[in-house]
Amino acid sequence: MGYLTKSRFIKAMECPTKLYYEGRREYRNRQLEDSFLEALAEGGFQVGELARCYHPEGIKVDERDTDTAVKKTEELMKKKNITIFEGAFLSNQLLVRVDILEKTGNRLNLIEVKAKSYDGDKDGDFLNQRGNVNSNWSDKINDAAFQKMVLKRIFPQYAVDAYLMLPDKNSICPTEGLHQKFKIQTLENGRKTVVQQQELTEEELDEQILIAVNANKAVDNVLYSYYSFGGEEMPLENFADCLAASMEKGEKIPPVVKMECKACEFQATEDEEAKGLKSGLKECWKEALGWGEEDFQNPAIFEIGNFPKAKTMLAQGIIKMKDLDPGEFEPVPSEDVALTTKQRQALQAKKTLRGDFTSWINRSGLGREMDSWTYPLHLIDFETAMPAIPMHKGMRPYEGIAFQFSHHVLHEDGRVEHRGEYLKDEPGAFPNFEFIRALKKELEEDQGTIFRYAAHENSYLNMIYRQIQRSGENSEDHEEQEEKETLQDREELLRFIKSITKSTKNSPEKWVGERNMVDLLELVKKYYYDPRMKGSNSIKKVLPAVLNQSEYLQEKYKEPIYGSRRGIPSLNFENQIWIQYQEGEVIDPYKLLPPMFQDITDEEQEILDEQIERGGSIADGGAAMAAYARLQFEDMPREEREEIRRALLKYCELDTLAMVMIIEGWREQSNKKEDSGTE
Ligand code: SF4
Repeated sequence: MGYLTKSRFIKAMECPTKLYYEGRREYRNRQLEDSFLEALAEGGFQVGELARCYHPEGIKVDERDTDTAVKKTEELMKKKNITIFEGAFLSNQLLVRVDILEKTGNRLNLIEVKAKSYDGDKDGDFLNQRGNVNSNWSDKINDAAFQKMVLKRIFPQYAVDAYLMLPDKNSICPTEGLHQKFKIQTLENGRKTVVQQQELTEEELDEQILIAVNANKAVDNVLYSYYSFGGEEMPLENFADCLAASMEKGEKIPPVVKMECKACEFQATEDEEAKGLKSGLKECWKEALGWGEEDFQNPAIFEIGNFPKAKTMLAQGIIKMKDLDPGEFEPVPSEDVALTTKQRQALQAKKTLRGDFTSWINRSGLGREMDSWTYPLHLIDFETAMPAIPMHKGMRPYEGIAFQFSHHVLHEDGRVEHRGEYLKDEPGAFPNFEFIRALKKELEEDQGTIFRYAAHENSYLNMIYRQIQRSGENSEDHEEQEEKETLQDREELLRFIKSITKSTKNSPEKWVGERNMVDLLELVKKYYYDPRMKGSNSIKKVLPAVLNQSEYLQEKYKEPIYGSRRGIPSLNFENQIWIQYQEGEVIDPYKLLPPMFQDITDEEQEILDEQIERGGSIADGGAAMAAYARLQFEDMPREEREEIRRALLKYCELDTLAMVMIIEGWREQSNKKEDSGTE
């Protein structure tokens, strides 16, 4: 089964049983095995290359074959002073490739490069107030600790210091164009990598946007803790050896059922099992709890959304929802009030236990909301990216880019139109100001109510507000002066943003705009629940739920009216039929879209889509971010570029159509006389 590498060690720190499933292709793995694709979706794929630029003296160990790489590293380590990239160090079965290793005499600095933004004031030395590793950083620190342990074992006579090199949230990009110096290239085996295309300027080397933070305290906290293996407590080093030994023997470390199982990547859907893939989770639970196949028909308690008691209950052996004491939940109120989180939980548990698959809607509450709306309704959704390397001089790492929006309109008489969209993907072009102008133009024609789903759109508009304000500050810089000149409509744009938003928590200026956007997610939480959503309120769960319950929507969208001349105007679809069935259920419309990329597998595409769900809102979508990154940094044939653009436009259009459909479904239910809204 190979060596215990950094990434396997991190998995084992999450749950040692995962080592058994890792690399066994018969088990469904819901994590991207292509780490580059993952980095693309997260925006930090160029950080490693930039970090190497900051160490121009470094020598890279390119060899992928372990023995050759280890031998080459051994040779290089004979030098008194040297910087090595990707050096390979092997001790028994433990293998590490160190991102950057600085050797100065008997001192080693191991530098682990990560694309996670670091804010010195908030993140400090990666420890929390109790002196433990901050959970936000634990996988990064575990990674560095594993490397330090292996280096100490091979070089006991050396002092080893561990650093994390990270995009510094408080740094400011000193130049234009740094962002475009790193491009994506396709290797012979089809995989992609980042290459530096231009030298860094002196300014870029002096004013670095990555920071190397000493992580020794947090790393030592991991190194000098004890870990449980086979009922024995042991130091990290012995623990790692035990893990490596069970890997070599192909043994499975006995599973322990815990909250983390909920997010375990080794689980398969029924469909996937039918196709022959195995579910690691099922195997674990059968082994640990003596369960049979039928036990999985009962939903587990951690399917209840935001249920903090679930952890204690699991520890007490209460796994199935049906074993919960109903007294654990508040009663669902019969009065006409907005649901609290606890009441939603009660509703979910009760419906599950009764086998009741009908939806719950508070008609009068929703009705009051609807009465306050002004038609036509405007539904908007943004696609955004947060590049680690800023697009512009004066910007900070991970400062947001709003590169796309979609806009649907729903009229009082029921007419729907996909009225507008915006997509800016030219390499190096900074879209935010043009984006806001285009949005203003779309929305200023009337005073209709505007809808967003979740906080994302409001946060981004607040961010653009600050960027516009900043661009107006006095500057000696010629280029900034030029930018100011292009922002002659600055005051108008600021006024517009304020009119449709509310200020965010950390904003020094406070406001609530007269046309402040309505958050559809908040309305879902208060007034709507459907068992198909399980514990999630993500729009990707709400949409199929509404479609499956609504006869009106099924009748309307089963016809090819979407994008047809006499039907609903669409900018990207033609005669689209949104209602299609599989085994009696409406197919999730997102599954009807073409793949975002032709050169990744269906599974990878699915995982990218799932990242959207994990983000809780489509705006956090990994697939759109990855697509934008490729359009920015990859030289590709025009047709391929066009295909990605078309896919992006369709995805974003469906995001706002989903909002239209949810409101249409609610309008239909609100018009019904009988009351299914209360329990
Ligand atoms: S299902 Fe649970 S016990 Fe099994 S590998 Fe995943 S996290 Fe570990």
